[in-house]
Amino acid sequence: MQETVAANKVVTETNIDEVMQHAFDAFNEYKKLPAQKRAVFLETIADEIEKLREQLVAVANAETNLPLARLNGELTRTNNQLKMFATLIKEGSWVEASIDTAINDRTPPRPDIRKMLVPVGPVVVFGASNFPFAFSTAGGDTASALASGSSVVIKGHSAHAKTSQFVYTAIQKAIKVSGVPGHTVQHVMGSGNTVGKALVMHPYTKGVGFTGSFAGGTALVGYSNQREIPIPVFAEMSSINPVVFYPDTLSKNAESLAAMYAASITLGVGQFCTNPGILLGLRSDSFNNFLAALGKEISKVQPQKMLHSGICSSYGKGLTQMLDQQGLQVIAQSASPANDMEATALLASVNGKEFLENKHFVEEVFGPYSLAIICDDTTQLKQCLQNLKGQLTSSIMATEKDIEEYSEVIELQHTLAGRILLNNAPTGVEVCSSMVHGGPYPATTDARFTSVGTTAIKRWVRPICLQNFNDDMLPDALKNDNPLSILRLVDNVYTRDAVNA
Ligand code: NAP
Repeated sequence: MQETVAANKVVTETNIDEVMQHAFDAFNEYKKLPAQKRAVFLETIADEIEKLREQLVAVANAETNLPLARLNGELTRTNNQLKMFATLIKEGSWVEASIDTAINDRTPPRPDIRKMLVPVGPVVVFGASNFPFAFSTAGGDTASALASGSSVVIKGHSAHAKTSQFVYTAIQKAIKVSGVPGHTVQHVMGSGNTVGKALVMHPYTKGVGFTGSFAGGTALVGYSNQREIPIPVFAEMSSINPVVFYPDTLSKNAESLAAMYAASITLGVGQFCTNPGILLGLRSDSFNNFLAALGKEISKVQPQKMLHSGICSSYGKGLTQMLDQQGLQVIAQSASPANDMEATALLASVNGKEFLENKHFVEEVFGPYSLAIICDDTTQLKQCLQNLKGQLTSSIMATEKDIEEYSEVIELQHTLAGRILLNNAPTGVEVCSSMVHGGPYPATTDARFTSVGTTAIKRWVRPICLQNFNDDMLPDALKNDNPLSILRLVDNVYTRDAVNA
Protein backbone atom coordinates (compact mmCIF):
# COMPACT_ATOMS: atom_id res chain seq x y z
CA MET A 1 0.00 0.00 0.00
CA GLN A 2 1.28 3.48 -0.88
CA GLU A 3 2.16 5.92 1.92
CA THR A 4 0.04 8.55 0.19
CA VAL A 5 -3.19 6.67 0.84
CA ALA A 6 -4.91 8.32 3.79
CA ALA A 7 -6.85 6.21 6.25
CA ASN A 8 -10.50 5.88 5.43
CA LYS A 9 -12.72 8.39 7.14
CA VAL A 10 -15.07 5.91 8.76
CA VAL A 11 -18.15 7.54 10.21
CA THR A 12 -21.22 6.34 12.04
CA GLU A 13 -24.72 7.68 11.59
CA THR A 14 -24.11 9.94 14.60
CA ASN A 15 -21.42 11.89 12.67
CA ILE A 16 -23.69 12.53 9.70
CA ASP A 17 -25.12 15.74 11.17
CA GLU A 18 -21.65 17.28 11.19
CA VAL A 19 -20.88 16.05 7.67
CA MET A 20 -24.13 17.41 6.29
CA GLN A 21 -23.76 20.74 8.11
CA HIS A 22 -20.38 21.14 6.37
CA ALA A 23 -21.95 20.13 3.05
CA PHE A 24 -24.73 22.69 3.52
CA ASP A 25 -22.33 25.51 4.44
CA ALA A 26 -20.01 24.65 1.54
CA PHE A 27 -22.96 24.61 -0.87
CA ASN A 28 -24.01 28.11 0.13
CA GLU A 29 -20.57 29.43 -0.86
CA TYR A 30 -19.80 27.10 -3.76
CA LYS A 31 -23.04 27.82 -5.65
CA LYS A 32 -22.11 31.52 -5.78
CA LEU A 33 -18.74 30.93 -7.45
CA PRO A 34 -18.49 31.89 -11.12
CA ALA A 35 -18.85 28.90 -13.46
CA GLN A 36 -15.25 29.50 -14.64
CA LYS A 37 -13.99 28.78 -11.12
CA ARG A 38 -16.09 25.63 -10.78
CA ALA A 39 -14.76 24.53 -14.19
CA VAL A 40 -11.16 25.02 -13.08
CA PHE A 41 -11.95 22.94 -9.98
CA LEU A 42 -13.24 20.05 -12.14
CA GLU A 43 -10.20 20.28 -14.44
CA THR A 44 -7.88 20.33 -11.42
CA ILE A 45 -9.47 17.16 -10.01
CA ALA A 46 -8.74 15.50 -13.38
CA ASP A 47 -5.15 16.78 -13.32
CA GLU A 48 -4.58 15.54 -9.76
CA ILE A 49 -6.05 12.13 -10.60
CA GLU A 50 -3.82 11.96 -13.67
CA LYS A 51 -0.73 12.62 -11.52
CA LEU A 52 -1.62 9.57 -9.40
CA ARG A 53 -2.57 7.37 -12.38
CA GLU A 54 -0.02 4.62 -11.92
CA GLN A 55 -0.56 4.20 -8.17
CA LEU A 56 -4.36 4.54 -8.45
CA VAL A 57 -4.58 1.88 -11.13
CA ALA A 58 -2.36 -0.46 -9.08
CA VAL A 59 -4.49 -0.02 -5.96
CA ALA A 60 -7.73 -0.53 -7.91
CA ASN A 61 -6.27 -3.58 -9.63
CA ALA A 62 -5.46 -5.16 -6.26
CA GLU A 63 -8.91 -4.35 -4.87
CA THR A 64 -11.20 -5.19 -7.79
CA ASN A 65 -9.48 -7.85 -9.94
CA LEU A 66 -10.10 -5.62 -12.96
CA PRO A 67 -7.19 -5.70 -15.44
CA LEU A 68 -4.75 -2.79 -15.70
CA ALA A 69 -5.75 -1.95 -19.28
CA ARG A 70 -9.44 -1.67 -18.35
CA LEU A 71 -8.64 0.43 -15.28
CA ASN A 72 -6.37 2.75 -17.26
CA GLY A 73 -9.15 3.21 -19.82
CA GLU A 74 -11.68 3.85 -17.08
CA LEU A 75 -9.43 6.41 -15.41
CA THR A 76 -9.04 8.25 -18.74
CA ARG A 77 -12.81 8.20 -19.15
CA THR A 78 -13.26 9.60 -15.63
CA ASN A 79 -10.90 12.50 -16.34
CA ASN A 80 -12.49 13.19 -19.73
CA GLN A 81 -15.87 13.24 -18.00
CA LEU A 82 -14.68 15.84 -15.48
CA LYS A 83 -13.28 17.95 -18.33
CA MET A 84 -16.49 17.53 -20.37
CA PHE A 85 -18.53 19.04 -17.52
CA ALA A 86 -15.94 21.81 -17.16
CA THR A 87 -16.39 22.68 -20.85
CA LEU A 88 -20.18 22.56 -20.49
CA ILE A 89 -20.30 25.05 -17.63
CA LYS A 90 -17.65 27.33 -19.17
CA GLU A 91 -19.86 27.68 -22.25
CA GLY A 92 -22.81 28.24 -19.91
CA SER A 93 -25.93 27.77 -22.07
CA TRP A 94 -26.85 24.58 -20.14
CA VAL A 95 -28.71 26.74 -17.56
CA GLU A 96 -31.54 27.09 -20.12
CA ALA A 97 -31.98 30.82 -19.59
CA SER A 98 -35.34 31.98 -20.82
CA ILE A 99 -36.65 35.54 -20.90
CA ASP A 100 -40.16 36.82 -21.60
CA THR A 101 -39.94 40.59 -21.65
CA ALA A 102 -42.66 42.78 -20.20
CA ILE A 103 -45.62 43.79 -22.37
CA ASN A 104 -46.93 46.94 -20.76
CA ASP A 105 -49.57 47.81 -23.34
CA ARG A 106 -51.36 44.45 -23.01
CA THR A 107 -54.49 44.05 -20.90
CA PRO A 108 -53.63 42.87 -18.36
CA PRO A 109 -49.96 43.94 -18.76
CA ARG A 110 -47.40 41.11 -18.79
CA PRO A 111 -44.59 41.53 -16.25
CA ASP A 112 -40.96 40.72 -17.11
CA ILE A 113 -40.50 36.97 -16.42
CA ARG A 114 -37.14 35.16 -16.53
CA LYS A 115 -36.15 31.56 -15.80
CA MET A 116 -32.99 29.48 -15.38
CA LEU A 117 -31.75 26.29 -13.75
CA VAL A 118 -30.13 26.49 -10.29
CA PRO A 119 -28.41 23.79 -8.19
CA VAL A 120 -30.56 21.92 -5.66
CA GLY A 121 -28.02 21.70 -2.83
CA PRO A 122 -25.95 18.98 -1.20
CA VAL A 123 -26.00 15.73 -3.18
CA VAL A 124 -25.10 12.28 -1.81
CA VAL A 125 -23.31 9.96 -4.25
CA PHE A 126 -23.03 6.20 -3.66
CA GLY A 127 -19.91 4.83 -5.36
CA ALA A 128 -20.71 1.89 -7.68
CA SER A 129 -18.78 -1.35 -7.21
CA ASN A 130 -18.45 -2.17 -10.91
CA PHE A 131 -16.78 1.10 -11.99
CA PRO A 132 -14.21 2.00 -9.30
CA PHE A 133 -13.31 5.22 -11.13
CA ALA A 134 -15.97 6.26 -13.67
CA PHE A 135 -19.09 5.66 -11.49
CA SER A 136 -17.43 6.08 -8.13
CA THR A 137 -15.69 8.79 -6.09
CA ALA A 138 -14.86 11.26 -8.88
CA GLY A 139 -17.20 9.63 -11.40
CA GLY A 140 -20.11 10.94 -13.43
CA ASP A 141 -22.50 11.55 -10.51
CA THR A 142 -19.91 13.59 -8.59
CA ALA A 143 -18.71 15.49 -11.68
CA SER A 144 -22.23 16.41 -12.81
CA ALA A 145 -23.31 17.47 -9.31
CA LEU A 146 -20.20 19.65 -8.84
CA ALA A 147 -20.72 21.17 -12.29
CA SER A 148 -24.29 22.11 -11.32
CA GLY A 149 -23.03 24.03 -8.27
CA SER A 150 -24.05 21.45 -5.66
CA SER A 151 -21.71 20.23 -2.92
CA VAL A 152 -21.19 16.45 -2.75
CA VAL A 153 -20.89 13.82 -0.02
CA ILE A 154 -19.53 10.55 -1.38
CA LYS A 155 -20.41 7.26 0.30
CA GLY A 156 -17.39 5.19 -0.78
CA HIS A 157 -18.02 1.56 -1.79
CA SER A 158 -16.50 -0.94 0.63
CA ALA A 159 -15.42 -3.21 -2.25
CA HIS A 160 -12.81 -0.61 -3.35
CA ALA A 161 -12.41 1.44 -0.17
CA LYS A 162 -8.70 2.15 -0.67
CA THR A 163 -9.17 3.25 -4.28
CA SER A 164 -12.07 5.48 -3.26
CA GLN A 165 -10.11 7.13 -0.45
CA PHE A 166 -7.07 7.52 -2.72
CA VAL A 167 -9.12 9.25 -5.43
CA TYR A 168 -10.47 11.49 -2.67
CA THR A 169 -6.92 12.61 -1.84
CA ALA A 170 -6.74 13.95 -5.42
CA ILE A 171 -10.04 15.78 -4.88
CA GLN A 172 -8.74 17.25 -1.60
CA LYS A 173 -5.64 18.50 -3.40
CA ALA A 174 -7.83 20.07 -6.10
CA ILE A 175 -9.96 21.77 -3.42
CA LYS A 176 -6.82 23.43 -2.04
CA VAL A 177 -5.27 24.31 -5.41
CA SER A 178 -8.43 25.80 -6.89
CA GLY A 179 -9.59 27.56 -3.70
CA VAL A 180 -13.16 26.25 -3.52
CA PRO A 181 -14.74 25.79 -0.05
CA GLY A 182 -12.99 23.08 1.94
CA HIS A 183 -16.06 20.87 2.34
CA THR A 184 -17.32 21.12 -1.24
CA VAL A 185 -16.63 17.38 -1.53
CA GLN A 186 -16.54 15.03 1.46
CA HIS A 187 -15.89 11.30 1.50
CA VAL A 188 -17.30 8.92 4.09
CA MET A 189 -17.16 5.18 4.61
CA GLY A 190 -19.29 3.16 6.98
CA SER A 191 -20.13 -0.47 7.41
CA GLY A 192 -23.64 -1.81 7.21
CA ASN A 193 -26.41 0.32 5.73
CA THR A 194 -26.70 2.78 8.62
CA VAL A 195 -24.45 5.48 7.18
CA GLY A 196 -26.10 5.34 3.75
CA LYS A 197 -29.53 5.53 5.36
CA ALA A 198 -28.56 8.49 7.58
CA LEU A 199 -27.15 10.35 4.55
CA VAL A 200 -30.32 9.90 2.50
CA MET A 201 -32.56 10.77 5.45
CA HIS A 202 -30.67 13.92 6.44
CA PRO A 203 -32.75 17.09 5.89
CA TYR A 204 -29.83 18.91 4.20
CA THR A 205 -29.52 16.20 1.51
CA LYS A 206 -31.32 17.36 -1.63
CA GLY A 207 -30.56 14.59 -4.13
CA VAL A 208 -29.03 11.10 -4.32
CA GLY A 209 -27.07 9.32 -7.08
CA PHE A 210 -26.76 5.53 -6.92
CA THR A 211 -25.73 2.59 -9.14
CA GLY A 212 -26.04 -0.90 -7.74
CA SER A 213 -28.54 -3.57 -6.85
CA PHE A 214 -32.32 -3.34 -7.15
CA ALA A 215 -32.60 -4.04 -3.40
CA GLY A 216 -30.14 -1.22 -2.59
CA GLY A 217 -31.77 1.31 -4.94
CA THR A 218 -35.29 0.61 -3.72
CA ALA A 219 -34.12 0.83 -0.09
CA LEU A 220 -32.75 4.33 -0.76
CA VAL A 221 -36.03 5.38 -2.41
CA GLY A 222 -37.82 3.98 0.66
CA TYR A 223 -35.70 6.17 2.97
CA SER A 224 -36.47 9.21 0.86
CA ASN A 225 -40.18 8.49 1.16
CA GLN A 226 -39.85 8.28 4.95
CA ARG A 227 -38.44 11.82 5.07
CA GLU A 228 -40.64 14.72 6.06
CA ILE A 229 -39.70 16.22 2.70
CA PRO A 230 -38.91 13.50 0.13
CA ILE A 231 -36.03 14.08 -2.33
CA PRO A 232 -35.22 12.61 -5.75
CA VAL A 233 -33.16 9.41 -5.65
CA PHE A 234 -31.61 8.75 -9.06
CA ALA A 235 -30.93 5.03 -8.81
CA GLU A 236 -29.69 2.90 -11.68
CA MET A 237 -30.52 -0.64 -10.65
CA SER A 238 -31.35 -3.55 -12.86
CA SER A 239 -31.41 -4.12 -16.61
CA ILE A 240 -31.16 -7.25 -18.77
CA ASN A 241 -30.83 -5.36 -22.07
CA PRO A 242 -32.87 -7.39 -24.59
CA VAL A 243 -31.51 -7.99 -28.08
CA VAL A 244 -33.75 -9.09 -30.95
CA PHE A 245 -32.04 -11.03 -33.75
CA TYR A 246 -34.20 -10.76 -36.87
CA PRO A 247 -34.35 -13.58 -39.47
CA ASP A 248 -32.63 -12.05 -42.49
CA THR A 249 -29.56 -10.92 -40.57
CA LEU A 250 -29.37 -14.31 -38.83
CA SER A 251 -29.37 -16.11 -42.19
CA LYS A 252 -26.51 -13.90 -43.44
CA ASN A 253 -24.40 -13.01 -40.39
CA ALA A 254 -24.74 -15.79 -37.79
CA GLU A 255 -20.97 -16.24 -37.26
CA SER A 256 -20.09 -12.56 -36.93
CA LEU A 257 -23.11 -11.92 -34.66
CA ALA A 258 -22.01 -14.83 -32.46
CA ALA A 259 -18.49 -13.39 -32.12
CA MET A 260 -19.86 -9.90 -31.38
CA TYR A 261 -22.26 -11.15 -28.70
CA ALA A 262 -19.88 -13.65 -27.05
CA ALA A 263 -17.52 -10.68 -26.52
CA SER A 264 -20.34 -8.44 -25.24
CA ILE A 265 -21.83 -11.02 -22.82
CA THR A 266 -18.45 -11.78 -21.25
CA LEU A 267 -16.85 -8.30 -21.39
CA GLY A 268 -15.61 -7.30 -17.91
CA VAL A 269 -16.81 -10.72 -16.63
CA GLY A 270 -20.35 -9.60 -17.49
CA GLN A 271 -20.25 -6.93 -14.78
CA PHE A 272 -21.75 -4.15 -16.86
CA CYS A 273 -25.23 -2.76 -16.40
CA THR A 274 -25.60 -2.91 -20.20
CA ASN A 275 -24.73 -6.61 -20.40
CA PRO A 276 -27.03 -8.36 -22.95
CA GLY A 277 -28.92 -10.81 -20.72
CA ILE A 278 -31.82 -11.69 -23.05
CA LEU A 279 -31.46 -12.72 -26.71
CA LEU A 280 -34.73 -13.09 -28.63
CA GLY A 281 -35.38 -14.67 -32.02
CA LEU A 282 -37.92 -16.63 -34.04
CA ARG A 283 -37.66 -20.42 -34.01
CA SER A 284 -35.66 -21.30 -37.16
CA ASP A 285 -32.55 -23.09 -38.36
CA SER A 286 -30.74 -19.78 -38.63
CA PHE A 287 -31.49 -18.83 -34.97
CA ASN A 288 -30.36 -22.35 -33.93
CA ASN A 289 -27.16 -21.98 -35.98
CA PHE A 290 -26.49 -18.61 -34.37
CA LEU A 291 -27.02 -20.01 -30.86
CA ALA A 292 -24.73 -22.97 -31.63
CA ALA A 293 -22.01 -20.59 -32.88
CA LEU A 294 -22.50 -18.35 -29.85
CA GLY A 295 -22.33 -21.39 -27.55
CA LYS A 296 -19.06 -22.44 -29.17
CA GLU A 297 -17.58 -19.00 -28.44
CA ILE A 298 -18.91 -19.00 -24.85
CA SER A 299 -17.38 -22.41 -24.10
CA LYS A 300 -13.96 -21.00 -25.06
CA VAL A 301 -14.22 -18.18 -22.46
CA GLN A 302 -11.95 -18.81 -19.47
CA PRO A 303 -13.58 -18.23 -16.06
CA GLN A 304 -12.37 -14.91 -14.64
CA LYS A 305 -12.30 -13.31 -11.21
CA MET A 306 -15.26 -11.09 -10.36
CA LEU A 307 -15.08 -7.74 -8.55
CA HIS A 308 -15.61 -9.06 -5.06
CA SER A 309 -16.76 -12.19 -3.26
CA GLY A 310 -20.28 -10.76 -2.70
CA ILE A 311 -20.86 -10.21 -6.42
CA CYS A 312 -19.40 -13.66 -7.18
CA SER A 313 -21.67 -15.40 -4.69
CA SER A 314 -24.70 -13.40 -5.98
CA TYR A 315 -23.83 -14.58 -9.50
CA GLY A 316 -23.56 -18.19 -8.31
CA LYS A 317 -26.91 -17.98 -6.51
CA GLY A 318 -28.58 -16.23 -9.43
CA LEU A 319 -27.35 -18.89 -11.87
CA THR A 320 -28.43 -21.76 -9.63
CA GLN A 321 -31.92 -20.28 -9.24
CA MET A 322 -32.16 -19.73 -12.98
CA LEU A 323 -30.99 -23.25 -13.80
CA ASP A 324 -33.73 -24.60 -11.49
CA GLN A 325 -36.48 -22.99 -13.60
CA GLN A 326 -38.60 -25.35 -15.64
CA GLY A 327 -37.86 -25.33 -19.37
CA LEU A 328 -34.41 -23.78 -19.15
CA GLN A 329 -31.73 -25.59 -21.16
CA VAL A 330 -28.01 -24.90 -20.96
CA ILE A 331 -26.55 -24.39 -24.45
CA ALA A 332 -22.94 -23.91 -23.37
CA GLN A 333 -20.68 -22.80 -20.54
CA SER A 334 -16.97 -22.10 -20.04
CA ALA A 335 -15.20 -25.39 -20.63
CA SER A 336 -12.51 -24.77 -17.98
CA PRO A 337 -13.44 -25.10 -14.30
CA ALA A 338 -13.83 -21.93 -12.21
CA ASN A 339 -11.55 -21.24 -9.24
CA ASP A 340 -12.30 -19.11 -6.18
CA MET A 341 -14.13 -15.84 -7.04
CA GLU A 342 -14.18 -16.76 -10.74
CA ALA A 343 -17.33 -16.73 -12.85
CA THR A 344 -18.25 -19.36 -15.44
CA ALA A 345 -19.77 -17.85 -18.59
CA LEU A 346 -23.10 -19.49 -19.42
CA LEU A 347 -25.60 -19.39 -22.28
CA ALA A 348 -29.05 -20.97 -21.84
CA SER A 349 -32.32 -21.04 -23.76
CA VAL A 350 -36.03 -21.31 -23.10
CA ASN A 351 -39.10 -21.46 -25.34
CA GLY A 352 -41.25 -18.35 -25.62
CA LYS A 353 -44.26 -20.06 -23.99
CA GLU A 354 -42.32 -21.07 -20.87
CA PHE A 355 -40.66 -17.65 -20.72
CA LEU A 356 -44.09 -15.99 -20.65
CA GLU A 357 -45.32 -18.29 -17.89
CA ASN A 358 -42.45 -17.67 -15.46
CA LYS A 359 -41.57 -14.19 -14.18
CA HIS A 360 -38.25 -15.39 -12.81
CA PHE A 361 -36.74 -15.42 -16.31
CA VAL A 362 -36.76 -11.61 -16.46
CA GLU A 363 -34.62 -11.23 -13.32
CA GLU A 364 -31.08 -9.83 -13.69
CA VAL A 365 -28.23 -12.31 -13.13
CA PHE A 366 -25.28 -9.91 -12.82
CA GLY A 367 -22.38 -11.63 -14.59
CA PRO A 368 -21.43 -13.40 -17.87
CA TYR A 369 -24.83 -15.06 -18.40
CA SER A 370 -27.39 -14.70 -21.16
CA LEU A 371 -30.73 -16.36 -21.89
CA ALA A 372 -32.00 -16.98 -25.44
CA ILE A 373 -35.79 -16.89 -25.91
CA ILE A 374 -36.97 -18.99 -28.82
CA CYS A 375 -40.31 -17.61 -30.03
CA ASP A 376 -42.85 -19.54 -32.11
CA ASP A 377 -43.97 -16.54 -34.17
CA THR A 378 -44.03 -12.74 -34.33
CA THR A 379 -47.04 -12.53 -32.00
CA GLN A 380 -45.19 -14.45 -29.32
CA LEU A 381 -42.04 -12.39 -29.89
CA LYS A 382 -44.08 -9.24 -29.26
CA GLN A 383 -45.63 -10.79 -26.12
CA CYS A 384 -42.15 -11.67 -24.84
CA LEU A 385 -40.98 -8.08 -25.35
CA GLN A 386 -44.10 -6.72 -23.63
CA ASN A 387 -43.37 -9.09 -20.73
CA LEU A 388 -40.06 -7.33 -20.02
CA LYS A 389 -39.57 -4.60 -17.42
CA GLY A 390 -37.93 -1.24 -18.19
CA GLN A 391 -34.40 -1.41 -19.60
CA LEU A 392 -31.30 0.68 -20.18
CA THR A 393 -30.88 -0.62 -23.74
CA SER A 394 -32.79 -2.47 -26.43
CA SER A 395 -30.82 -3.75 -29.44
CA ILE A 396 -32.08 -4.40 -32.96
CA MET A 397 -29.96 -6.77 -35.04
CA ALA A 398 -31.50 -6.46 -38.50
CA THR A 399 -31.01 -5.93 -42.23
CA GLU A 400 -32.99 -3.39 -44.27
CA LYS A 401 -35.34 -6.23 -45.21
CA ASP A 402 -35.89 -7.12 -41.53
CA ILE A 403 -36.53 -3.48 -40.67
CA GLU A 404 -39.29 -3.29 -43.31
CA GLU A 405 -40.82 -6.62 -42.41
CA TYR A 406 -40.75 -6.31 -38.60
CA SER A 407 -41.49 -2.61 -38.14
CA GLU A 408 -44.12 -3.28 -35.44
CA VAL A 409 -41.71 -5.34 -33.33
CA ILE A 410 -39.03 -2.68 -33.74
CA GLU A 411 -41.50 -0.01 -32.66
CA LEU A 412 -42.19 -2.06 -29.55
CA GLN A 413 -38.45 -2.25 -28.86
CA HIS A 414 -38.37 1.57 -28.76
CA THR A 415 -40.79 1.62 -25.81
CA LEU A 416 -38.59 -0.54 -23.59
CA ALA A 417 -35.39 1.40 -23.00
CA GLY A 418 -33.50 4.67 -22.87
CA ARG A 419 -31.01 3.69 -25.61
CA ILE A 420 -32.02 1.80 -28.76
CA LEU A 421 -29.16 0.32 -30.80
CA LEU A 422 -29.14 -0.83 -34.41
CA ASN A 423 -26.59 -3.55 -35.27
CA ASN A 424 -24.37 -2.72 -32.28
CA ALA A 425 -23.86 -4.56 -29.00
CA PRO A 426 -25.08 -2.64 -25.90
CA THR A 427 -21.90 -2.81 -23.81
CA GLY A 428 -19.69 0.27 -24.19
CA VAL A 429 -21.37 3.53 -23.17
CA GLU A 430 -19.95 6.57 -24.93
CA VAL A 431 -19.69 9.68 -22.75
CA CYS A 432 -21.18 12.45 -24.91
CA SER A 433 -24.02 14.94 -25.05
CA SER A 434 -26.40 12.63 -26.93
CA MET A 435 -25.97 9.62 -24.63
CA VAL A 436 -28.91 8.32 -22.61
CA HIS A 437 -27.87 5.96 -19.84
CA GLY A 438 -31.21 5.59 -18.16
CA GLY A 439 -34.55 4.01 -18.84
CA PRO A 440 -37.95 3.00 -17.51
CA TYR A 441 -38.21 1.41 -14.04
CA PRO A 442 -36.48 -0.69 -12.75
CA ALA A 443 -33.55 0.18 -15.03
CA THR A 444 -33.67 3.52 -13.22
CA THR A 445 -36.03 5.27 -10.83
CA ASP A 446 -36.68 8.11 -13.29
CA ALA A 447 -36.64 7.51 -17.05
CA ARG A 448 -36.55 11.27 -17.78
CA PHE A 449 -32.88 11.48 -16.86
CA THR A 450 -29.48 10.02 -17.79
CA SER A 451 -26.48 9.32 -15.57
CA VAL A 452 -23.99 9.54 -18.47
CA GLY A 453 -23.35 12.52 -20.75
CA THR A 454 -23.72 16.25 -20.26
CA THR A 455 -27.47 16.12 -19.52
CA ALA A 456 -26.68 14.10 -16.36
CA ILE A 457 -26.33 17.57 -14.78
CA LYS A 458 -30.14 17.99 -15.01
CA ARG A 459 -30.60 15.62 -12.07
CA TRP A 460 -29.11 18.17 -9.68
CA VAL A 461 -30.96 21.35 -10.66
CA ARG A 462 -34.39 22.92 -10.52
CA PRO A 463 -35.87 25.77 -12.54
CA ILE A 464 -36.32 29.11 -10.82
CA CYS A 465 -38.43 31.94 -12.19
CA LEU A 466 -37.64 35.60 -11.41
CA GLN A 467 -40.56 37.91 -12.06
CA ASN A 468 -40.34 41.70 -12.36
CA PHE A 469 -36.69 41.90 -11.20
CA ASN A 470 -34.46 44.90 -11.83
CA ASP A 471 -31.53 44.11 -14.13
CA ASP A 472 -28.93 44.65 -11.40
CA MET A 473 -30.67 42.06 -9.19
CA LEU A 474 -30.64 39.36 -11.88
CA PRO A 475 -27.97 36.64 -12.12
CA ASP A 476 -25.55 37.12 -15.05
CA ALA A 477 -27.31 34.42 -17.08
CA LEU A 478 -30.49 36.52 -17.13
CA LYS A 479 -29.13 40.07 -17.35
CA ASN A 480 -30.18 42.19 -20.32
CA ASP A 481 -26.75 42.53 -21.91
CA ASN A 482 -26.03 38.79 -21.68
CA PRO A 483 -22.54 39.16 -20.13
CA LEU A 484 -21.96 35.37 -20.36
CA SER A 485 -22.81 35.37 -24.13
CA ILE A 486 -24.92 32.25 -23.64
CA LEU A 487 -27.71 31.01 -25.86
CA ARG A 488 -31.06 32.11 -24.39
CA LEU A 489 -34.71 31.88 -25.34
CA VAL A 490 -35.82 35.50 -25.57
CA ASP A 491 -39.48 36.05 -26.34
CA ASN A 492 -39.54 32.52 -27.81
CA VAL A 493 -36.51 33.01 -30.11
CA TYR A 494 -33.12 31.38 -29.41
CA THR A 495 -30.42 34.05 -29.46
CA ARG A 496 -27.16 35.24 -27.91
CA ASP A 497 -28.19 38.86 -28.43
CA ALA A 498 -28.71 41.35 -25.62
CA VAL A 499 -32.27 42.13 -24.56
CA ASN A 500 -33.67 45.60 -25.20
CA ALA A 501 -35.83 46.03 -22.14
P1 NAP B 1 -25.38 -2.73 -3.55
O1 NAP B 1 -25.48 -3.87 -2.62
O2 NAP B 1 -26.65 -2.20 -4.08
O3 NAP B 1 -24.58 -1.57 -2.76
C1 NAP B 1 -24.23 -0.35 -3.39
C2 NAP B 1 -24.08 0.74 -2.32
O4 NAP B 1 -25.36 1.00 -1.75
C3 NAP B 1 -23.17 0.38 -1.16
O5 NAP B 1 -22.48 1.54 -0.76
C4 NAP B 1 -24.13 -0.03 -0.07
O6 NAP B 1 -23.67 0.31 1.22
C5 NAP B 1 -25.32 0.83 -0.35
N1 NAP B 1 -26.54 0.16 0.07
C6 NAP B 1 -27.05 -0.99 -0.42
N2 NAP B 1 -28.19 -1.30 0.20
C7 NAP B 1 -28.40 -0.31 1.10
C8 NAP B 1 -29.42 -0.09 2.06
N3 NAP B 1 -30.44 -0.92 2.24
N4 NAP B 1 -29.33 1.02 2.83
C9 NAP B 1 -28.30 1.89 2.71
N5 NAP B 1 -27.29 1.71 1.82
C10 NAP B 1 -27.35 0.62 1.03
O7 NAP B 1 -24.50 -3.05 -4.80
P2 NAP B 1 -23.08 -3.78 -4.96
O8 NAP B 1 -22.46 -4.05 -3.63
O9 NAP B 1 -22.31 -2.94 -5.86
O10 NAP B 1 -23.39 -5.13 -5.70
C11 NAP B 1 -24.37 -6.05 -5.27
C12 NAP B 1 -25.22 -6.49 -6.46
O11 NAP B 1 -25.75 -5.34 -7.13
C13 NAP B 1 -24.47 -7.21 -7.57
O12 NAP B 1 -24.33 -8.56 -7.30
C14 NAP B 1 -25.34 -6.95 -8.75
O13 NAP B 1 -26.38 -7.88 -8.81
C15 NAP B 1 -25.91 -5.60 -8.51
N6 NAP B 1 -25.24 -4.52 -9.30
C16 NAP B 1 -25.87 -4.09 -10.40
C17 NAP B 1 -25.30 -3.08 -11.15
C18 NAP B 1 -26.00 -2.56 -12.37
O14 NAP B 1 -25.47 -1.67 -12.99
N7 NAP B 1 -27.15 -3.07 -12.75
C19 NAP B 1 -24.07 -2.53 -10.80
C20 NAP B 1 -23.44 -2.99 -9.63
C21 NAP B 1 -24.06 -4.00 -8.89
P3 NAP B 1 -23.08 -0.75 2.24
O15 NAP B 1 -21.67 -0.97 1.80
O16 NAP B 1 -23.19 -0.08 3.54
O17 NAP B 1 -23.93 -1.97 2.12
